[in-house]
Amino acid sequence: MGRPLEPGERVLLVDSRGRRYLVELAPGGEFHSHTGVVDHGALIGVEEGTTVRSSTGARYTVLRPSLADFVLRMPRGAQVVYPKDLAPMLLLADVHPGSRVLEAGVGSGALSLALLRAGAHVVGYEVRDDFAGRARANVAAFLGEAALDRYRVEVRDVYEGIDEHDLDAVLLDLPEPWQVVKHAERALRRGGTLVAYTPSIAQVMALREALAGSDFEMIGTQEHLLRTWHVEGQAVRPDHRMVAHTAFLTHARLLGPVPGGLKAQAPLP
Ligand code: SAH
Repeated sequence: MGRPLEPGERVLLVDSRGRRYLVELAPGGEFHSHTGVVDHGALIGVEEGTTVRSSTGARYTVLRPSLADFVLRMPRGAQVVYPKDLAPMLLLADVHPGSRVLEAGVGSGALSLALLRAGAHVVGYEVRDDFAGRARANVAAFLGEAALDRYRVEVRDVYEGIDEHDLDAVLLDLPEPWQVVKHAERALRRGGTLVAYTPSIAQVMALREALAGSDFEMIGTQEHLLRTWHVEGQAVRPDHRMVAHTAFLTHARLLGPVPGGLKAQAPLP
């Protein structure tokens, strides 16, 4: 038996053509679309996978949204990081339950959601007060109020410095990540990771130059192309359209010289 859908929950309605709509269930609420009306009353108390009909007879299947469904449909101010890039960013930053992470800027909170869902404790720096509020609201909406215990957003400019210490990872999605390299060197633990998401290759070049002159090592840049497939009978081929570009991911580990460490010892005879 599944857990019945409750008032206050966000649910996904999927129509017969696969289109998805995010709906917050409220007693007495109604979902309106070009196919008429679905009463929330028909959705509250049912199990995921239930199919209901709108006032004109159109079919909708209801289920809880995945994180990917939610970030693509949640209220946004800034452009969000798409699921295709969220997944590799989590592994490049090696995020795990209990990881201590600094994220800047926070924007609408898509990356925050992925980090928190993976169990991280997240401090976000965001210059825009309205975006900080939006991100907090999105986190509470999808992960619940309890997730806010692991999530603090400060309205401030990360180019001016980072107050945290011994961080496991710093994740950046803002115009000039190279301005953060010096601050990240002081804020990360040795072995900690920096990951930056940048749409333009000119940003990659400037960041790579700053990293080359820093204590970061194991530096790399990659991009992820996602090609979906059309699979129907004998017609099995890549879809005609794909998103050609979102951003480059640049990553590095903080190492640098260890005082009195192996690197400093005399070579073996
Ligand atoms: N990764 C976010 C989107 C971030 S958009 C998501 O997935 O939802 C980039 C954000 O960086 C914007 O909200 C912008 O206000 C913020 N920003 C730009 N410069 C900044 C700075 N110097 N310090 C902190 N935040 C900054």
